Amino acid sequence: MSVTPDDIRAAAARIAGHVAQTPMVEDQVLSARLGHPVWLKCEHRQTTGAFKLRGATNAIRSLDRDRLARGVITASTGNHGRALAHAARALGVRATVCLSRLVPANKIQAIRALGADVRIVGDSQDDAMVEVSRAVAHEGMTAIPPFDHPDVVAGQGTIGLEIGAPEAVLVPLSGGGLAAGIALAIKALSPRTRVIGLTMENGAAMAASIRAGHPVEVVETASLADSLGGGIGLGNRVTFPLCRDLLDQVILLTEVEIAEGIRHLGRAGHVVEGAAAVGTAALLAGKITPRGPVVTILSGANIDPALHARVMAGASEAA
Ligand SMILES: *Cc1c(COP(=O)(O)O)cnc(C)c1O
Repeated sequence: MSVTPDDIRAAAARIAGHVAQTPMVEDQVLSARLGHPVWLKCEHRQTTGAFKLRGATNAIRSLDRDRLARGVITASTGNHGRALAHAARALGVRATVCLSRLVPANKIQAIRALGADVRIVGDSQDDAMVEVSRAVAHEGMTAIPPFDHPDVVAGQGTIGLEIGAPEAVLVPLSGGGLAAGIALAIKALSPRTRVIGLTMENGAAMAASIRAGHPVEVVETASLADSLGGGIGLGNRVTFPLCRDLLDQVILLTEVEIAEGIRHLGRAGHVVEGAAAVGTAALLAGKITPRGPVVTILSGANIDPALHARVMAGASEAA
């Protein structure tokens, strides 16, 4: 069930030409302030607006013809759902996204616009997950989860092959697919590079799980970093052990700090969602002291434009 650096190299070959090659640009303001170069890995400019396309593309393109013919399914409404819909359409494969009755109509429309079938089931995310299991058992569909899957981790890890060997890499952390993949790639290439996971204070499931020594659930509240919400799964098999063993540190950010990160990046022309601003936020807040070049992963751009405007004007509340 685990992932190796070779799996990440294989993923890079498999997804080449099907995902965008994103640039690294220097944050000149932070470089000057901190005395070491700060580089931004621009996955907010990835197709579908987030790095999730890498994992989804690698996972789908690893399936055999028989499985492709029966289609793929997920319960994610966020960046993973968008990515899976896009990656499936590019291959002419049917993607199904299961949603609860509570998901707003505009979100349903957006998923349909990407060519996915939408199934509305029950009143909660848990009900949507039950439908995924049912479709896997009875319709032969293949579930592609958002993080806890070796092919998804390997796909996200391809970012690690594109950022060289800095002193530290700052990675947004939720379910841990991105952090596990990047840490695996980086530690194989450059064992002394620090890989630091960053997340919000309210609902840091991976941080709490690492502290407890096993996956735990935490109480969530609304956050500017909504893409970092959700648990890691009590039955987590892939990303928990990798994050526990490979991350040098996990740092938590307040909403005010995340808002500062969004504003700093926004002033440089980078419109990012809160999840993508956590590395910048940690540098601005002095929670990380660079000892050499730093790379921070701008993981996604999918923020409601009205919310972005409110944060740029000084707000630090999600709702
Ligand atoms: C999914 C996501 C993350 C977190 O990735 P995990 O693999 O779940 O840790 C961070 N930022 C954005 C924009 C995301 O969509």
